[in-house]
Amino acid sequence: MTNNIVVLGAGVSGLTTAYLLSQDPSNKITVLAKHMPGDYDIEYASPWAGANYMPVGKEGSAHHKWELDTWPALKEITEKYPEAGIHFRGTLIYNRKKDQETDTGKWFSELTQPNPWYKDVVPDFKSVPSNQLAPGVDNGQEFTSVCINTAVYLPWLVGQCVKNGAVFERAVFKHIADAANAHHTGQKADVVINCTGLSSKTLGGVLDDKMYPARGQIVVVRNDPGPMMSTSGTDDGEDEALYIMTRAAGGGTILGGSYQKHNWSGIPDMNLANRIMKRCIDVCPSLVKEGQGIEGLDIIRHGVGLRPLREGGTRIEKDKVDGVAIVHNYGHGGFGYQASFGCAYSAVSLVKEILQNKSRAKL
Ligand code: FAD
Repeated sequence: MTNNIVVLGAGVSGLTTAYLLSQDPSNKITVLAKHMPGDYDIEYASPWAGANYMPVGKEGSAHHKWELDTWPALKEITEKYPEAGIHFRGTLIYNRKKDQETDTGKWFSELTQPNPWYKDVVPDFKSVPSNQLAPGVDNGQEFTSVCINTAVYLPWLVGQCVKNGAVFERAVFKHIADAANAHHTGQKADVVINCTGLSSKTLGGVLDDKMYPARGQIVVVRNDPGPMMSTSGTDDGEDEALYIMTRAAGGGTILGGSYQKHNWSGIPDMNLANRIMKRCIDVCPSLVKEGQGIEGLDIIRHGVGLRPLREGGTRIEKDKVDGVAIVHNYGHGGFGYQASFGCAYSAVSLVKEILQNKSRAKL
């Protein structure tokens, strides 16, 4: 039996879900999206991500499980498919207790605690000895993570799906149920998977008012300081962040950032950009030559992305809208890559339940 499936959205959530589903030849998949890999747009979060694996899910939560389940998949892709644009990189995490109640401090609270669940997941986890910590830093740890060059990885996912027979088409929908009528075979889709990220707030048939953005501003530079680095907060503002990530395969180094909730502006703020560059050099002087300041940074571009946050957490759930079976997979905030496979496994198992019910109904 053939299953006609529409995946709506071509960010990391849609592409990972389509990639898993395309491995079963009985699934005929159409990926429909307003934005595709190669585009840079404020409505499209995925290209802007660092992107690395820095777990933030609270121990025991579904979020924890999604991140736990994603590490082996990212590790396997890194080892087996160098053309996917992911490499292993050491990462240093620094925690200041005084950041505990800020937006960035809360976002990173699991990541920065001295004895986190992920210490047994990622390789080479160890605490930084207290005599090596800068003044004001309460604890620190290092481990081996991955850094994903999103400009290479997203097209790689498209390529894997196309190789498995999936069809990609540009389309913009006002209502989710309309996507069921746009399957490339001309037949109605058995199920639509909603991976529209922040746009689930305005998409007809979904209209999820729990969705809101956390604005992330970045500077991409050619300088390469070595290991990745991140802190629990900064002294420049409660919604400003500090992270440094060098992407695989010539993708440059991402200097971040910010975590500005409910801020929809897609225009880089140059004052914030200056603060980002200055504090990255303060914490990691090897970014530039000795004695240099921000003039030593070789800037590729300034950028802004909106993390698709959801009050109450990510939505992975079955639904029925105007008679169309839907599986939602959206609301991945600042963790869409590091939870991508875990979330897609959950979405795929809901799709299977819907397809099994369909085959039973036909018997
Ligand atoms: P999106 O990438 O936004 O994709 C949505 C898709 O839906 C697009 O294709 C869009 O065109 C389509 N769409 C929407 N509405 C419609 C419609 N009506 N009709 C047709 N198509 C539609 N995560 C990590 O794991 N690690 C990191 O290091 C990391 N760093 C980040 C840094 C920054 C600065 C930012 C902004 C984010 C970061 N993230 C990181 C988070 C991550 O980028 C997001 O969680 C993830 O990209 C969300 O992906 P998505 O596929 O759900 O949504």
